[in-house]
Amino acid sequence: MLSYKNVRLIHALLSSVALICYLIYGGVFLYVAIILALIYLGVVIYGVFTVRAGFFLSLYNEGSVTDKRIALTFDDGPSENTKEVLDILKKYHIKATFFLIGSKVESQQDVVKRLVEEGHEVGNHTYHHSKSTGFYPVPKLNQEIESTRAVVKNYTGLNMKLYRPPFGVTTPNLAKVVSQLQLNVIGWSVRSFDTTRESAERIIQRILKQVKPGAVVLLHDDRKKCTTVLETIIPQLLNQHYTFATVSELFKIEAYEKD
Ligand SMILES: [Zn+2]
Repeated sequence: MLSYKNVRLIHALLSSVALICYLIYGGVFLYVAIILALIYLGVVIYGVFTVRAGFFLSLYNEGSVTDKRIALTFDDGPSENTKEVLDILKKYHIKATFFLIGSKVESQQDVVKRLVEEGHEVGNHTYHHSKSTGFYPVPKLNQEIESTRAVVKNYTGLNMKLYRPPFGVTTPNLAKVVSQLQLNVIGWSVRSFDTTRESAERIIQRILKQVKPGAVVLLHDDRKKCTTVLETIIPQLLNQHYTFATVSELFKIEAYEKD
């Protein structure tokens, strides 16, 4: 399997051989070593930005294909718009998973309480959701996750174990923090792109085309477009006999720490 550990090992071996050959024979082997370094860099960059690759750590990206069961997941809340999303989910009796940004929780504590009261699951999406999260050193990343856990626990009593990396960016530092804190990292198999300027119609078509049994659908509950998309995809997926689960149900994992 293409993992950071394996790629690093293979690269170290091949580069050592190329450099030894260069020292003995000179010439072309220097170029071989440079090309190997560039390939290594390319693979690592692919691993950082491709959540489904699971390059640095294990992620839960999709469930069993034998059950026609999928998970709707929502990032970047809580927000005012989350209330409309909750109304729609309630109408169809669907439970979903929400990955919360810690800094938004204080001002939307009622929404967070409602989420939990209505049977939805909550997970961690860092405190600030900075575009630089991927470059954070271990202590700062740890603080982002722990402070979000603390603020959510304060309002719900729940100590979250589910984590979704902002922008799907994973790094060796994240792998360390996830291992230390024993988090379950959730990716996705269907990306809606509902944060882009694309029309709701196009987003709906993309989701319906890509959904298959076990799918984890990534949506954003802070976007107006999200509600339009939900009102169309849910009835259609129900017609196709899909059922809906939270991610802990889909993957049979713990959503919360048992205190
Ligand atoms: Zn996000």
